[in-house]
Amino acid sequence: MNNSSFYIRNIVDKWQKPGLKIKVASIFIIAVIFTVLFFLLYHSSVQQSLVIQSLYVPVIISAIIFRTSGGIIAGLIAAMILSPQIPELPLDIGVAIFQETIAWGLGAGLFILVGIITGSALDMINHQYNQLQQASFFSPSTELPNKYNLLNKIEWHLNSETSQEFTLFIITIENATEIINNIGHNHFGNFFKTIASNLSQQLELSTDVYNIYENNIAILLTKDSEIDRPLFINRLISILEDPIKYNDIPIYLDTFIGAASYPDDGKGPNEIFQKAYIALNKAQKNSQTLSFYDEKLDDTGKSNLILLGGIKPSLDNNHFELHYQPKIDLKTNEVVSAEALIRWHHPEIGMIPPGKFIPQIEKTALINELTCWVFDEAAKASLLLNDAGLDLTISINVAPRNLQCDDFLPQITKILTAHAIEANSFELELTETDLVEGLAEGKKIFSELAKQGFKISLDDFGTGYSSLAYLKELDFDYLKIDRSFVDDMLAGEENKEIVSAAITLGHILKKEVIAEGVENKDTLDLLKEMDCDYAQGYYFSKPKPLLEFMDYCTQD
Ligand code: C2E
Ligand code: MG
Ligand code: MG
Repeated sequence: MNNSSFYIRNIVDKWQKPGLKIKVASIFIIAVIFTVLFFLLYHSSVQQSLVIQSLYVPVIISAIIFRTSGGIIAGLIAAMILSPQIPELPLDIGVAIFQETIAWGLGAGLFILVGIITGSALDMINHQYNQLQQASFFSPSTELPNKYNLLNKIEWHLNSETSQEFTLFIITIENATEIINNIGHNHFGNFFKTIASNLSQQLELSTDVYNIYENNIAILLTKDSEIDRPLFINRLISILEDPIKYNDIPIYLDTFIGAASYPDDGKGPNEIFQKAYIALNKAQKNSQTLSFYDEKLDDTGKSNLILLGGIKPSLDNNHFELHYQPKIDLKTNEVVSAEALIRWHHPEIGMIPPGKFIPQIEKTALINELTCWVFDEAAKASLLLNDAGLDLTISINVAPRNLQCDDFLPQITKILTAHAIEANSFELELTETDLVEGLAEGKKIFSELAKQGFKISLDDFGTGYSSLAYLKELDFDYLKIDRSFVDDMLAGEENKEIVSAAITLGHILKKEVIAEGVENKDTLDLLKEMDCDYAQGYYFSKPKPLLEFMDYCTQD
């Protein structure tokens, strides 16, 4: 909200409910106008009809300030000024014809009517305005003041003469959906109101509790509040931890709180609001009950956005590159496949490893464009490898969001057709965690990909929580044991046994097993002993640009 709209609202509010000072001043002005007009009418030669018409002015002013009742009273006074009892008042001074009572009655009626019409019209406008205010400044479901009300309040606070410092707390109810499912959607508004009134009473708040968005509560703690901040926070957390009795059922809230303070964290209402949300986001991510805004949080958010903004231009300007890491068949010691791993040569930042940008991109639709680019590059590489007499499949890492997009498979098929390459030249790597997050979908997607002819690897095995029953149902070809287990194999008996168990499990499920992250000969020997099928890792080769990878494959 900008300053001018805040002032306009202030003026409208003052006009709506005039204070005592305005009322007294208005009575005085109205009385002066009536007196002056009375004297002009009876003791001056000013044109009489002009003065009589001027009597509408105090009637209208009175109706504006005191509404219908004020309009009626002022109308009566105007009528009395023109009273037929006053002999000096001729209907027309020029011809000295005196008014009849009926004519006076009509005139008086007109004054009162104007008073009533003006007063009622303003009452109606007022009512409409109040309804509009209610709709714009209060949540329709909870009737609590909303976000705009809060921003207005902050603006008002910043313009007041008290200390301007304040802290804004935003609370989110994580289990709102679960509560709605249990108590019913139509009860949630009332339930929310109960939470708000609990907070308001127990915290002894001098300001409102706001309902911003569906399941978010906001509380403004100003410097002039009775309670100091640490005590307020302790109380707030303990109130939220207590169950809320609703229809005699104790309901527990699952909440996170984000907080930002003025003037340390921002200059105006909108900025403080945004910072409190950034803090809330951090609390949710780190599973902390409460988090305060910290400048570093903003930097992370901003740098994520800057990174995301750079993806598209970098795709257009060839700033991405694929590196290839060999997969070795442990029976023949030969390279049988290559994993394509993306590298970003950012024009300003330099080399950015995939771990720094892939997780961010995977949350956006950009991942489709990126994976299509990887497929296109890998398809070209596959043709070059074939030309060099290297009959290798290429593994591509695919994000769950890719598979959820209906267009993804047709787009990939188009790329393969354009390069005249079969799907069985590619392995798709999907992480176990991705699968667990979308259990029901996983099965369908895997069989669809298998039908197309792609080989499938379950990447980073051991880091997710997929059940054995679920794994048994899935249609995949390779189980790829996560690097973290392979890395630590030599460090302790336990890790060795985990890797051995994973290999056995893979074989029972009739899958071939790949160990990733093999960095030394001892680990390799141990894996061979355990009957592991394939291995990948720095011991053989780090991921390399295509030509270097081809050199690696062709050297003896
Ligand atoms: P990932 O698919 O599990 O890839 C294996 C990662 O382990 C690669 O890291 C690889 O360089 C690294 N690595 C391989 N052998 C060793 C070793 O012996 N020791 C150590 N310390 N590391 C080893 P990178 O290239 O940084 O990739 C990280 C992750 O980024 C990948 O994990 C994959 O999940 C993702 N990623 C990479 N390229 C793409 C891509 O094109 N698309 C998608 N969606 N994800 C990608
Ligand atoms: Mg992988
Ligand atoms: Mg992996």
